[in-house]
Amino acid sequence: MADFGADKLETFRAEASDWLKANYPAELRDPKAKTDPEAIWGGRAFAGSDDPQIVWMRRVAVKGWTAPTWPAAYGGGGLSAAEARIVEQEIARGGYRTPLASFGLWMLGPVLLEFANEQQKQEHLPKIVRGEIRWCQGYSEPGAGSDLAGLQTRCEDKGDHWLINGQKIWTSYANKADWCFCLVRTDTTKKHEGISFVLIDMASPGVETRPIKLISGESPFCETFFTDVKIPKGNMVGPLNGGWTIAKRLLQYERQNISGGFGGGGGAGGAAGDLGQIAKRYVGVDDSGALADADLRARITKNKMDFQAFGLTTARIAAESRASNGPSAATSIIKYAAAAFAQERSELMVEAMGNHGLGWEGQGFSPAELIATHGWLRSKGNSIEGGTSEVNINVVSKRVLGLPDPK
Ligand SMILES: Cc1cc2nc3c(=O)[nH]c(=O)nc-3n(C[C@H](O)[C@H](O)[C@H](O)COP(=O)(O)OP(=O)(O)OC[C@H]3O[C@@H](n4cnc5c(N)ncnc54)[C@H](O)[C@@H]3O)c2cc1C
Repeated sequence: MADFGADKLETFRAEASDWLKANYPAELRDPKAKTDPEAIWGGRAFAGSDDPQIVWMRRVAVKGWTAPTWPAAYGGGGLSAAEARIVEQEIARGGYRTPLASFGLWMLGPVLLEFANEQQKQEHLPKIVRGEIRWCQGYSEPGAGSDLAGLQTRCEDKGDHWLINGQKIWTSYANKADWCFCLVRTDTTKKHEGISFVLIDMASPGVETRPIKLISGESPFCETFFTDVKIPKGNMVGPLNGGWTIAKRLLQYERQNISGGFGGGGGAGGAAGDLGQIAKRYVGVDDSGALADADLRARITKNKMDFQAFGLTTARIAAESRASNGPSAATSIIKYAAAAFAQERSELMVEAMGNHGLGWEGQGFSPAELIATHGWLRSKGNSIEGGTSEVNINVVSKRVLGLPDPK
């Protein structure tokens, strides 16, 4: 008997493939095409821009395919999980760029769909889909990282508005973001039950950001200060003092997403090139054409196999989460594993290059060598961002394995 579901999906695949091909900007087909590296993040800074990356993002957003499974009522594609996967596959197969990278898509949007009121959904979700607003995440504070519920940034009820005072830290791209989703303290007598989830326009008076430099030389995050910042009453998502549930849910989405980023080489020196090929170039090959150093060969092979298995597992978990109620505490397992594999790959890359893999700048090093060094240093953060490896192991032991707290 014919499988009409499969037929329908194949028709959809053909249509999606045709549409992507017809709408991919010609300029982006040229690998040397000049686009602003920040354009992929969208936001107010690119409101009137004709950068080809922005043109691509806008075209895809008209179809809602920047957020393929979100409801069409909020600008999303309204696609089934299977159709969304096809769009992803066709974008990858065509070698097209990711249309939009966004904390709004990866983290905030999913929790707005689950917890926000109708007005908040109508206000924020379509702008996320269209890449009009760039979001940052105001969770960590100088005294509240792993112990996130220890956060102290105060949010006071002033009748017709909320008043925010306090400091966040490690706020990725706060200096470039338009809005911040933020955890604040609304009750000082309780810990977890005294936290609320609010949305803050970064252009509000009293918001200040100071970039911090990473060991890799990049400056991707900031200290963020809120001094007597007024926000409208309608900017609290979920109930007063009910922010912890939303915060935890968002972390599951975050962990799922950043694990995918490490798998693709994000922040881990993967952009320097294929590890096996690079090792052969620097270390040499034996008579059979295999990497000459047998021990290094075995470790690189293991890392590649781990990544392969990891990629298949994350694809399966992502499909399961699309088909059910979203990600679970099991995302802590993949976040932990992704960080470990990415750091191992960066170490192997630098080891294979020898002293060429330890360049900081200058003409004595090729661009790939500099990427490897900076990527290796950046990868140190992989086991910290989105919750440290130790904290994720704690989540797995308690929430996945059901083990008791240590005495
Ligand atoms: C690249 C990068 C980007 C980031 N971006 C953001 C962002 O956009 N927004 C944001 O809010 N935050 C961001 N962070 C911050 C990140 O979430 C925190 O750094 C992280 O949660 C750890 O908190 P901490 O730095 O305060 O370390 P601490 O919590 O002080 O931890 C110090 C050490 O103690 C260990 N430890 C702590 N508690 C336990 C425990 N119970 N059991 C076992 N070991 C424990 C930790 O694993 C760690 O090794 C970012 C961090 C990095 C590296």
